[in-house]
Amino acid sequence: MAGRKERKIWGIGAAPGIAEGKAHVLDLRKTKFTKRYIPATQVKREIKRVQGAIEKSKADLVKIKDALGHEEINEHVYIFNSHLMILEDPMLLDAVTEMIFSERKNAEWALYTAFDNYKKMFDTIEDEYLRERKSDFDYLNTWILKHLSGSDEDSLQNIDEKVILFAHYLSPADAARMNREKIIGFVTDIGGSTSHTAILARALKIPAVVGAERASQLVSRGDRVILDGREGLIIVNPTRESATQYRERGLKYDHVEKALLKERDLPAETIDGRRISLTANVEMVEEVQAVREYGAEGIGLYRTEFLCLGQGRIPSEAEHFQVYKSVLEQMAPFPVTIRTFDFGSDKSPNINHLQKEMNPALGLRSIRYCLRETAIFKDQLRAILRASHYGKARILFPMISGLEELNRARDLFEEAKEEVAKKNQAFDPELEIGIMVEVPSAALIPDVLAKEVDFFSIGTNDLIQYCLAIDRVNKEVAYLYDPLHPSILRLLKMVVEAGHRQGIHVGMCGEMASDLRYIYILVGFGFDHLSMVGSMVPWIKKVVRSIDFQEARQLVETLLQGRDSAENERILSSWIQEKSPDIKEKVLSA
Ligand code: PEP
Ligand code: MG
Repeated sequence: MAGRKERKIWGIGAAPGIAEGKAHVLDLRKTKFTKRYIPATQVKREIKRVQGAIEKSKADLVKIKDALGHEEINEHVYIFNSHLMILEDPMLLDAVTEMIFSERKNAEWALYTAFDNYKKMFDTIEDEYLRERKSDFDYLNTWILKHLSGSDEDSLQNIDEKVILFAHYLSPADAARMNREKIIGFVTDIGGSTSHTAILARALKIPAVVGAERASQLVSRGDRVILDGREGLIIVNPTRESATQYRERGLKYDHVEKALLKERDLPAETIDGRRISLTANVEMVEEVQAVREYGAEGIGLYRTEFLCLGQGRIPSEAEHFQVYKSVLEQMAPFPVTIRTFDFGSDKSPNINHLQKEMNPALGLRSIRYCLRETAIFKDQLRAILRASHYGKARILFPMISGLEELNRARDLFEEAKEEVAKKNQAFDPELEIGIMVEVPSAALIPDVLAKEVDFFSIGTNDLIQYCLAIDRVNKEVAYLYDPLHPSILRLLKMVVEAGHRQGIHVGMCGEMASDLRYIYILVGFGFDHLSMVGSMVPWIKKVVRSIDFQEARQLVETLLQGRDSAENERILSSWIQEKSPDIKEKVLSA
């Protein structure tokens, strides 16, 4: 807009895509109130007002839930159920009633204080996912306040032109009932990428940025904005150059992605005929359908710990079973590699007996936890076994550091098998067992471990963390996190070669396998199988199909002589430039 300066606001990319349009600022906080003293004669009336407003809010939520309709969000009904549970919890009304009675304060204030107390309890919770649930209280508070003020206005439904929505907070219910013809993207001041609102934005494919701090105050209604949901960037009043640049970038990306999706059923095969299986990493059941659309040949890593992150409880065998069965059925006939719980470190299930540790990445994490809490582990093993009857399952043990741990895990697996068989429950007797190779001690004895398992899956996220001694979640040392470090390349070579000598499949499911540039190296090493973020599958397939395996082997030989990452980076860059200029221009830089 002429005369107005371009401004960039950064947040967290919650759902990818570029949207351009007019800003619409939704002030859900405009329901203002003051603290008032209530005379004894009005106490009953005040309590009735709250009861009525809570009842109306419940009815609203039920209506929204019943009207969901979209197939892709049916699985998210639990979000609305959890909101309803909060409203139905007698403790909420008790707390508000008590405050009105004893402190003689008005309903609005009592309600606000009750929700604020809930939020304070959540403040002390370490788990990021659970902490984010705090925003649900703000949302419910606003909703009830709206009814207390007698307003039935629905500001979201009143939008009648194409806009990018800005709000301090949007609830999952708001995201679910967004008219996608009108709302082409949204931005919230608070929230993280694991909030339910962000989950729904991804499921509904609405480009979104969350956690953009004061975005809803910095933007005015009608401002022209560009939103980049992958980068987490909002450009307000973009200059003509920025607008052109983003438009072109969006178009180029969409164009390349569309073309790649058309090729999703082609085999991931090098020019000289080496076939590699490309699968997806998933954290949640709701990702499974999209995985199929990207042309993945299965799930190479199902991070089951996400089932209970922040839940404060571990699922029962029956709950595990239902989820795994559903994933296997949806993916059939493709395989699903179910990794047993890998919590601890930055993935806390918030269970009381998991104490805070000084060095959580080196602590009671993952298989170590499972080998101690064998009842929990065996519930999961039995559930995987039973679910294996409904598709092609594989089991993957994380964080194995040596033979002892592997043997112990296998013993428990055998016990679980006997228990399932005793109950005459069906399972796949051929169920394959693999291990994550992600602890350097395991990577250094691959010949020993290869004799005991059906496959290896290298987890570079942890392998690099442990090998180079850098905390993978500490941004201060992030610059040291380098897959091209000669030590990492040597370990990869050892593991792949030992696996192949033993005749087992070797795959990779760490983030290194999602990086287009490293695919040349991974193909050269001879990986049989790569697992990655689902949306990357068509991109990686394109690169694989452009590679000559024999040439890639030579690249790896050269890299193995490299003395440091910088040298290896130079070798890789010039190799790509020389051998693959077309892919570099059209795919790598899209
Ligand atoms: C890894 O460590 O590379 C891996 C895939 O597992 P996670 O990222 O879940 O630790
Ligand atoms: Mg790992």
